[in-house]
Amino acid sequence: IFAILLFVFSFVSFFISYFMSKRAMSPIIRSYMKQREFAADASHELRTPLSVILSSINALEMEKQVQEDEFSHSVLSNMKYEVKRMIKLVGDLLTLARSDAENTEVRKEVFDFHQLAEKAVHSLETIADEKRITIRLSTPAQLFVYGNRERLDQLLYILLENAIKYSPENTEVNLELSLKKEEKNKLLVILVEDQGIGIKPEERERIFERFYRTDKSRSKQLGGHGLGLAIAKWIVDSHGGWIQVAGKSGKGSVFTIKIPQ
Ligand code: ADP
Repeated sequence: IFAILLFVFSFVSFFISYFMSKRAMSPIIRSYMKQREFAADASHELRTPLSVILSSINALEMEKQVQEDEFSHSVLSNMKYEVKRMIKLVGDLLTLARSDAENTEVRKEVFDFHQLAEKAVHSLETIADEKRITIRLSTPAQLFVYGNRERLDQLLYILLENAIKYSPENTEVNLELSLKKEEKNKLLVILVEDQGIGIKPEERERIFERFYRTDKSRSKQLGGHGLGLAIAKWIVDSHGGWIQVAGKSGKGSVFTIKIPQ
C-alpha cells in the first residue's frame, strides 16, 4: 500500500509541477517571441527609409553645384559612409533576428563550392587591392558539397572581409577548401588564414558573440559592428558544423570551419 501511495503521490506531483512550470513559463516565452518579432520588424522597416536616403545622397552627388563645392561634397560623402554602415547594420540585425525566429532546417542542395569561392574571391579583390593584399584560393578543381548556397556564400564573405580588414598592407590571405574524412564523417573543411593583427587567446571564444569587438575604438574606425562572426557562427551551426579560430596575437589568425557532408 505504501509503495502504491508513493507512486500515486509522485505521479500527481510530477503533473502539478509540470503544468505549473508551463503556466509560469508561458508569459516569458510570449515576451521573448514578441521581442524577436519586434527586432525583425524594426530592422525590416528601417531598411526602406535608409535606402531612400542613400539614393537621395547619390542623386545630390551628381548635381553640378555639389561637385563644384568641396564642403558639400565632403559632407555628402560622410553621410553616404554612415548611411551605408547603417544599412549593413540593419541587414545584419535582420539576419540575426530571423535566425532566432527560424526553427526549421536549412534548405540544402548539392553545388560546386569551388565556383562559389572563386566568385567571392573575385568580388573582394577590389577591397583587397586597395591594401595590396593578395587572396590565394586553394581548392580541388571541382568541390561538390551539400549545403545552403546563399548562407555559405555569406560565410565566405564575412571571413574574407574580416581577414582583409584586420590585415596590414602587402600581406596575403589564404582560402583553402577541401573534403576530408575524420573518423567516419566526411567533412567540408574551410580554412581562412591571414597575416593580420591576430586575436588574443582569451578573446577567441568571445568574438562569436553578438556585438563583441576586441578593440572597440579600432573596430569602429574600421567600420565594424561586431555582428559578422555571430552570423558566421549561426550559419555554421545551422549546418551542424564547427567554427574555431587559432593563431598568435600579432601574427595573424586562422579560422577553421568543418561542415558535415
Ligand atoms: P566586426 O564587424 O567588428 O568585424 P565581427 O563579428 O566580424 O565584427 O568580428 C568581431 C571581432 O573579432 C572584430 O571586431 C575583431 O576585433 C575580431 N576579428 C574578427 N576577424 C578577425 C581577424 N581576421 N583578425 C583579427 N581580428 C579579427
